[in-house]
Amino acid sequence: MEEKNQYLKEITPMDEDFSQWYIDTILKAELADYSTVRGCIVFRPYGYAIWENMQQLLDRRFKETGHKNAYFPLFIPESLLQKEAEHVEGFAPEVAWVTHGGSDELVERLAVRPTSETIICSMYSKWIKSWRDLPVLINQWANVVRWEKSTRPFLRTSEFLWQEGHTAHRTEEEAEEETLRMLEVYRDFVETELAIPVIKGRKTENEKFAGALRTYTIEALMKDGKALQAGTSHNLGQHFAKVFDIQYLDTDGQLKYVWQTSWGVSTRLIGALIMVHGDNKGLKIPPRIAPVQAIIIPIPGQESEKVFEKAKELSAGLNSRFRVEVDFNDEKTPGWKFSEYEMKGVPLRIEIGPRDVKNDQVVLVRRDTGEKMVISQDALDVKIGEVLEDIQRNMFTQARAFVEKNTREVHSFDEFKETIENKKGFVKANWCGSTECELAIKDETMATIRCIPFEGSEPDGGCVHCGNRATKKVIFARSY
Ligand code: AMP
Repeated sequence: MEEKNQYLKEITPMDEDFSQWYIDTILKAELADYSTVRGCIVFRPYGYAIWENMQQLLDRRFKETGHKNAYFPLFIPESLLQKEAEHVEGFAPEVAWVTHGGSDELVERLAVRPTSETIICSMYSKWIKSWRDLPVLINQWANVVRWEKSTRPFLRTSEFLWQEGHTAHRTEEEAEEETLRMLEVYRDFVETELAIPVIKGRKTENEKFAGALRTYTIEALMKDGKALQAGTSHNLGQHFAKVFDIQYLDTDGQLKYVWQTSWGVSTRLIGALIMVHGDNKGLKIPPRIAPVQAIIIPIPGQESEKVFEKAKELSAGLNSRFRVEVDFNDEKTPGWKFSEYEMKGVPLRIEIGPRDVKNDQVVLVRRDTGEKMVISQDALDVKIGEVLEDIQRNMFTQARAFVEKNTREVHSFDEFKETIENKKGFVKANWCGSTECELAIKDETMATIRCIPFEGSEPDGGCVHCGNRATKKVIFARSY
């Protein structure tokens, strides 16, 4: 017990200092480490395994919706980046530049991609000629670099890993359909696999992606009451098609510009996972995404050989269906291991000691509720399946209850300020639709409009800031 408490002391309690809790958890659970490069983190194997699981589950969904993967260069010539005015203006402050090859200065500077619209569009203008070439449905798994002013592991890093979808269509309707289809793919992925409830909505003009016609988002709420943009899907309209001259010959013999979309989620989602589900013991990873779904901990006692043998046998039997590991380390006590795997967020612990071997049973312990169950070894396979599903469900239900409890409607600016400052969370309020009010609210409260939600955006009073007629009821929050 003493040993356990000592160990846990190393993670700062959440309510004492949430930011420190977040960092402690990442470092202790060995998800990532700081690197010598400003704003860049190292993904350690346990953290990278979460990303690999995310990639697999998302990639399957992209393929199911007709997309294919490709890869474009990391470098973007300056002249290409500059073609779309809004786009370059939006990204210029965050671009890292390559100016030399060896000791020779380059004739043209190369941007390290902050996103790939421009380089991809330059290729689409070569590849797309006829209506028969459409739609183009391409996704890229890549790293990108944005020279962010302030950084935080996973949530905002200078280099991050992501996927970016880039599609081209014949009509505006098709492009809009695609934009919303991929937003729904993100919602389904984040809610089903990561057990994180999100709100779907549209970004305001002020918050949209640089160069987009419309940006849609899924917004999540972290345990400290701050919002996080978890994924975005952009309808690019014909902005890029016009400057990159992406035209196709339509069935009516006319040359027309294509309609485009782009959409992305990044390793930021690992940060969301930590901040939505974690607790004072550390991580809590939903089973569907967990690198290790169940950890077997042998409690050797007098008959270590028999216990180890049984643990090995059980693990071999379970491994075809579940991601199971056994911790054979004989330097650490079972108690130490219990805390270690709780801290690492492994959804299920399987304890097996000499008495269990004799009685053909094991003890199962859930990470989400702490509940202990004695299970016969014959029933283990079925039971683990059921319990993992129940953990996944329970984690989503709990996270959803948290969002509901922390979503409040306000009707005056005093109430707005008080809620944002003291209660935090999502704040729903009427808005007149002007960027002026949006920015004034941001200035005074540090809260931004997270989205104009797809559901429940009918206004029912005057703008919370200026009192003028409201056009929408929107969701505000302080955010990461
Ligand atoms: P964007 O291309 O700006 O729409 O970004 C796509 C997604 O990448 C966003 O929805 C974020 O989830 C994520 N993202 C943006 N900037 C960063 C960053 N600096 N670090 C990690 N993820 C990011």
